[in-house]
Amino acid sequence: MLVLKNIKKEYKVADTKFLALKGINLDFRENEFVSILGPSGSGKTTLLNIIGGLDHYSEGQLIINGRETSEFKEKDWNVYRNHRIGFIFQSYNLIPHQSVISNVELALTIAGLSKEERTKKAKEALDKVGLSDQYYKKPNQLSGGQSQRVAIARALVNDPEILLADEPTGALDTKTSVQIMDLIKEVAKDRLVIMVTHNPDLAEKYSTRIINLLDGNVLDDSNPLTNKEKESLYNKKPSNKKEQAKMTWWTTFKLSIQNLLNKRNRSILTSIASSIGIIGISLVLSLSFGVQSFITKTQEDMLSGNPITITKSALDLESMMSGMTIGEKVEVFKEIGYVGVEKVVEMIAKRSQQSSSMFIENDITEEYINYVLDMPKEDYAAIYLDREIDITNNLYFDFYENDTEFENISVSALKTIYTSILKENEATSSYANLISNFTNILAEAPNNSSYILEQYDILEGKVAESKNEIMLVLNSDGLISDLTLAQLGYYNQKQFINMILKALDDPKYDSSIVDIEKFSYEELMNKKFVWYPNDIVFKENNLPNKEFNPFYYNAYSRDFETNDQGIELKVVGILEPKEHINYGSLTSGFYYTNELTNHIIENSSESKIVKYFNEKGDNYIINSGKINGGGEIGITFKYSYNYLGEDRLNLTGFVGKTNQMADMIGAINPNIQSLYSLTKRDVGGEPLASKISIYPVNLKHKDKVTEYLDNWNNMDEDREKIVYSDNLSIVFAMIQNIINVITIALIGFTTLALVVSCVMIAIITYVSVVERVKEIGVIRSLGGSKKDVSNLFVAETVIIGLSAGIIAIGFTYLATFIINLIVVKSLGSNIAGFPAHYAIIMISISVLLTVISGLIPSRSAAKKDPVEALRTE
Ligand code: ADP
Ligand code: MG
Repeated sequence: MLVLKNIKKEYKVADTKFLALKGINLDFRENEFVSILGPSGSGKTTLLNIIGGLDHYSEGQLIINGRETSEFKEKDWNVYRNHRIGFIFQSYNLIPHQSVISNVELALTIAGLSKEERTKKAKEALDKVGLSDQYYKKPNQLSGGQSQRVAIARALVNDPEILLADEPTGALDTKTSVQIMDLIKEVAKDRLVIMVTHNPDLAEKYSTRIINLLDGNVLDDSNPLTNKEKESLYNKKPSNKKEQAKMTWWTTFKLSIQNLLNKRNRSILTSIASSIGIIGISLVLSLSFGVQSFITKTQEDMLSGNPITITKSALDLESMMSGMTIGEKVEVFKEIGYVGVEKVVEMIAKRSQQSSSMFIENDITEEYINYVLDMPKEDYAAIYLDREIDITNNLYFDFYENDTEFENISVSALKTIYTSILKENEATSSYANLISNFTNILAEAPNNSSYILEQYDILEGKVAESKNEIMLVLNSDGLISDLTLAQLGYYNQKQFINMILKALDDPKYDSSIVDIEKFSYEELMNKKFVWYPNDIVFKENNLPNKEFNPFYYNAYSRDFETNDQGIELKVVGILEPKEHINYGSLTSGFYYTNELTNHIIENSSESKIVKYFNEKGDNYIINSGKINGGGEIGITFKYSYNYLGEDRLNLTGFVGKTNQMADMIGAINPNIQSLYSLTKRDVGGEPLASKISIYPVNLKHKDKVTEYLDNWNNMDEDREKIVYSDNLSIVFAMIQNIINVITIALIGFTTLALVVSCVMIAIITYVSVVERVKEIGVIRSLGGSKKDVSNLFVAETVIIGLSAGIIAIGFTYLATFIINLIVVKSLGSNIAGFPAHYAIIMISISVLLTVISGLIPSRSAAKKDPVEALRTE
């Protein structure tokens, strides 16, 4: 039932008000064919739109099915339009990018019907209007009459109670008009049809009732309702059928996909363009992730070669860093007639205070060592306690001067001889002392053969385990340096000298001596070394000059007759780093065992030289060397050698480590004599380790190790702090920082591209809205809600965002693959990587951004007035 009571419609035009309907009173039967006639501008369309719920009246009452529509909510109007009203327009208003059948289905789609039902009903409707063979054509392939038939089918598909037609034949020729009118008359048999027309002949011929409008008033009504009819109409109970008009997300999606496919090229270009920003960020992330994994891997690789160490004196990096940041701010002195004084003395004093606080003396006590050893076993692979004994004074071997003559000499004595030989030659003299400091020829191996075997392959023999075993470790190229071998007597003296002469292009070079390229395992392992105890090596001086020369040193084993106290050391194995190990825990050189060190410590405690140190007190150092005026102090020995046929006899050598600083100066000025110093620790008099190296299992456990070490300092406030050095972390933390800064900077730049693509999406969505205003009007006239319309555009942006994201991720993976392909050769490792969760996040960001960009345009689409939307051409 449809009743209009005093309906007025007011339009605001600029500042004035215009009354298009001036109080319409009309009742309609449930089944009649009403024609509304009237000149242009008389308010016909306005009336029809109000009846159809497309437009709202300003005053009066519109009663639909017994319900006063002033209480209608937006949703009720949508349901009303969708289920009770069918609209036919003069200009057909078909959606151009959808097939005939989809156009007809639209009302059902909005009602939320299933695909099957929709197709069935749409086909029925199309069959009814005589278009059985046109289902899949596009509207622009149809004639005007056919188009209007489609529109009629669309209007009827939901079987509405009321069909509203606004000049349905206005754009058709007479013959087609008659066909359409016949069709509408057929439709009018079982429902209410209200048709606007300005053709009185058609109205006369087809309709059952003609209403004339003029200037917004009903001029006359050919067949108004009788009072009896009105009464029965008003007494009818309102129906309360539950109906809804709501598109599902999925149908919205499909509509959008269809629209995008229709503008395929534009959609593809838009997706590509908006993917650029995402590509930029993804590539940066991929590189940053790849580099980070590379660094982690490298760090893991380097872990075994870079243990956490605790040494007696350490650099406190924290105070160093804070020292560096202190900048002295000096005020500019400006006073006419005076000159300011710069306080340099004060500045120097401050600086030296700072720098002395940078060095920390670690007091490594037995308690601390036990604490370290109590560390959870799963966190470390090996702990190496270095007691820093200088074994070279006590180790002797056969040394050949030439092919036949040989002497049994100590390692430190030969080092002295070779240093002297290097000094013979001007080109090498400055580096003579330095060279011996560069090479680590003999050291103690960590006391964990399985940890060693994790990193090293045995080429020959076995890992040294007992006190009379030593082993040779090669570098990762399978080499051992000539200097190491020379210092342990593997070269004879002639060969060594010749090697230097050859390197220097010296004419005295003897080409008849063959250059040594390699040693057989046998040659390397057959060499015998003998360790002798302190009391045999260091001979007490009982002469009056005892104060200055407390001991003499026996450089050759011929200097002592008995040698039954010696321990013969055999080279029992040759090891090489495993293929994948770039940074093993052992640098190349010879290694002795922890057992030997234990023996030395035990044996030395009762030795005369250790007792001498004990008498002299803590931290006593025996200094040796030439003093000004030619005297020699400390522990000396005599040595001789032959240089290119000339004998150098009865030279004085000194025992002890050369002072590195003095060596540096020596490198600049060879005339300055070196000073040698020997400590109690060197001769095995200190049983406590002075250096602890901790080899963590892996990076994760490394944090546990440092945490454990920090705990020592935190447990007790008063305790002297122990500073450990973790060089690896410091270096890598710096690299990490740099990478983070670069990543953030690059992401900042690429975000610009993202912003640009967002703006572009907004513009394109807006253009799409403008293009689809008509479609918006149709959807609204068919009962689609504002939400449906905005969803349509949101769905469109979701699809664009999704495809942009997928394009970007695809490209990123491709680029990652190519970058790695190029880089893997030179770096041996991937440098880019894009984990799946990054991909998902980036696609989500892409969708989110495009949806946000499309939000304003889709809002504006939803707000469009359906009447205006339909009126646009
Ligand atoms: P008809 O369909 O009978 O030709 P309309 O119902 O379209 O006439 O219009 C009736 C009157 O209302 C006309 O004078 C028209 O200019 C005016 N009108 C219609 N829509 C609007 C509008 N949105 N704003 C202002 N005036 C309008
Ligand atoms: Mg009109």
